[in-house]
Amino acid sequence: MVRVIFSLDTEDYITPQHDDAVEFWAKLFAERKIRGCFNVVAEYARALKARKRGDIINLVSGNEADYHSNVHSVHPTFPEYLDTMDWDDGINEVIRKEAEGIKDVEDIFGQHPSSYMQPGGSFAPPGPLRDVPDGDPGYDLDFPFFSVKTEAALVLLRA
Ligand SMILES: [Zn+2]
Repeated sequence: MVRVIFSLDTEDYITPQHDDAVEFWAKLFAERKIRGCFNVVAEYARALKARKRGDIINLVSGNEADYHSNVHSVHPTFPEYLDTMDWDDGINEVIRKEAEGIKDVEDIFGQHPSSYMQPGGSFAPPGPLRDVPDGDPGYDLDFPFFSVKTEAALVLLRA
């Protein structure tokens, strides 16, 4: 049997027309009884709430509202601010910066994000998406700042 994951970055909190694309996909999934994965940037979730788009929040809530960082590409990005930190300081800093975003996505969509998708150029392998349920990221990287970010995301997602 072939399994397909429909995974959509849901991240443009600046352009209100982005809501139309999110609505299109969420309605399409609902019509076909498909549960998609909307990788939601917390700032986008907050923007939907501020724009009183409960209709879209409800549509996305029928799918997975996964976590795609607090503010996506706003500087400093993960590699930029983690570059000079050691492992423990890096984990603590990511948790400090991301905890509010995860809580907002959870509160707005009524579900704890089941996975984490790295934002844009803040690359990390798809291990977290695959392995969050058992808590094992399942890979080893030579880039500690990326691993720190992923480890912190796993800590947050398990909370
Ligand atoms: Zn993205």
